[in-house]
Amino acid sequence: MDIKNLKGIGEKTAALFDKLNIKDTADLLNFFPADYDHFGPICQINELKEGDVAAIRVYITSPPAVRYIKSMSILSFNVSDGSDEMNIVYFNAPYLRSSIKKGEECVFRGRATLRGKRLSFNNPRKYKITDYEALAGTDQPIYHTTKGLSSAAIQKAVRKAYETEVSAGVMYKNSPLFDRLPAGIIEKRGLMPYYEAILNIHMPQSKEKLIEARNRLAYQEFYEYILHMLERGYTPRRSEYPMIDVADTGRLLEKLPFQLTSDQKAVWDSINMDLCSGNVMTRLLQGDVGSGKTIIAVLGLLMAVCNGYQGAFMAPTEVLAVQHYDTIRGMTKKFDLPFKPVLLTGLVKGALRKDTLGAIASGDANLIIGTHALFQEAVEYHKLGFVVTDEQHRFGVLQREALMQKGGSPHVLIMSATPIPRTLAMILYGDLEVSTIHTMPAGRLPIKNCVVDTGYRPTAYKFITDEVRKGNQVYIICPQVDSGELIGVENVTEYSASLRVALPNDIRIGVLHGQMKSTAKDKIMDEFAGGNIDILVSTTVVEVGVNVPNATVMYIENAERFGLAQLHQLRGRVGRSDKQSYCIFMMNNASDKSRERLDILLNSNDGFEIASKDMELRGPGDIFGIRQSGDIIFKIGDIYQDSELIMWAKEDVTAAEI
Ligand code: ADP
Ligand code: MG
Repeated sequence: MDIKNLKGIGEKTAALFDKLNIKDTADLLNFFPADYDHFGPICQINELKEGDVAAIRVYITSPPAVRYIKSMSILSFNVSDGSDEMNIVYFNAPYLRSSIKKGEECVFRGRATLRGKRLSFNNPRKYKITDYEALAGTDQPIYHTTKGLSSAAIQKAVRKAYETEVSAGVMYKNSPLFDRLPAGIIEKRGLMPYYEAILNIHMPQSKEKLIEARNRLAYQEFYEYILHMLERGYTPRRSEYPMIDVADTGRLLEKLPFQLTSDQKAVWDSINMDLCSGNVMTRLLQGDVGSGKTIIAVLGLLMAVCNGYQGAFMAPTEVLAVQHYDTIRGMTKKFDLPFKPVLLTGLVKGALRKDTLGAIASGDANLIIGTHALFQEAVEYHKLGFVVTDEQHRFGVLQREALMQKGGSPHVLIMSATPIPRTLAMILYGDLEVSTIHTMPAGRLPIKNCVVDTGYRPTAYKFITDEVRKGNQVYIICPQVDSGELIGVENVTEYSASLRVALPNDIRIGVLHGQMKSTAKDKIMDEFAGGNIDILVSTTVVEVGVNVPNATVMYIENAERFGLAQLHQLRGRVGRSDKQSYCIFMMNNASDKSRERLDILLNSNDGFEIASKDMELRGPGDIFGIRQSGDIIFKIGDIYQDSELIMWAKEDVTAAEI
């Protein structure tokens, strides 16, 4: 059903939903929350510590006072719960004055912040006591939002959609709540019914039900994916694009300013052999961040081009695609390589796009670098013989297939910094060979790490200022774009503004996040790479693959909110030259458990080991907020924590086939 038929959603709201690719109730019900906010029991003021996110039940003990500093208004008042008194502040919301009455009893939920010597709540949410009592102990969904459409508005629409579809009946095949899994499997695996899983993923009735719902939906994703893989069949063995060894690759290796490490050499040898074998190559290249995978891709692409074929190099983000394009154009010129590269991303538009597509179809372009735009329908290849996907775990495998289908069956090299066990790789990618680069290029100093709490922030600011004074650059990562949905979580917008105040004026600060226009993102990345920005405050969009060797500090706020594999990826953005690099993991909500987790990062620099230790420590109940990085092959399933579900799905699909 079109969402415009839901009560309260008109043309305007529907247009906002459309930005999130939500058109009908099915889309809405399949738009799973990005996170959950746990509403705890009421706390006593005298128990609060700085940084706690908490709810207090209080009387308002002073009338609200409003004052102005420049154009900013500050509304403040005191509250007391008998255990202690505290101050509540709202910035830029003078209109709230009329709703704050001395003597009123209510609940405020916010993050305890130190102002002078006293704790206060800044911009907390206010609740009627009965309203908060209903929320206490529940997990409330937080959705990805778009400008003009809040998480609460999405939640409301989802509820309506659910009610509407339930009353229309869930047993009809075209109901978005219809259970598509065979009944036998649901019974055998003890899975929650589909309609109940959808209910609990959006409106969890309890933590246990939420986990059950999540597992049910993850299982289904794996099941349907594996079914699709089996139906599609595997790639043919004999290649339409046989190659012979060429002198150009050896010549390039001689001209490089460095020698390949022995692992790089071994990997290149096996790729070279694969390509000449007459069979189709499908190879997964795993190597930690900074281990030097890009040069291997370039060698393979060079080999394909010298054999008269086209090569394609796919990156998961615009930023990374542009960077690869620049790197390869630079190498083409410097080392006189026979590449005729073009860039194809969503940003290449109009006449330029037409020319680019023409050059790809005629074969004038022999190397095509870009994002998923590479496999959109309009793209026709001349003779696509070799495809590299960088940081493949960011891609849907199905999208990769779409590209493969364009050129028959090209050789495929999948590069990933996030390792998965071989058995899982076989299930997820089909039949493939796995190569690994274990060692880092020589001359790299190990990154120095620290895990600290917010009390350390002034020291950290002094430290990054010193690094900038030495001519080095700094990344600062915050989990969200603006002060939207999550209380007590740093955001890029406000953080960069407060950093501007905290640091010397001449330090150049740039901002990068996924909601910016692509042109703006590229511009910022270019400026950072060119050394015209000293500190880049960013969301995790820089996580994957970006290479700015002059950056020596990676500073992560709310580190406790990230998966360790993701933090390790972020850390891999520094330590890319012979300079000493540093990584600062800032905990904004310090608990012993999160410290124990983060300590794993201090003791290991091996992404393979980190991912598995994180898994062990987190255990099965600990599923949200710290999804492992990148693997958005699946919407809700996580290849790290769901290996058992994947095995089940594989078993069940295979049993059904026989
Ligand atoms: P990743 O595996 O994370 O993709 P990159 O391919 O971006 O790593 O390589 C990181 C940096 O190391 C690049 O600047 C690259 O030029 C450099 N590099 C690659 N191989 C070597 C090597 N054998 N010796 C020295 N530097 C190397
Ligand atoms: Mg890379």
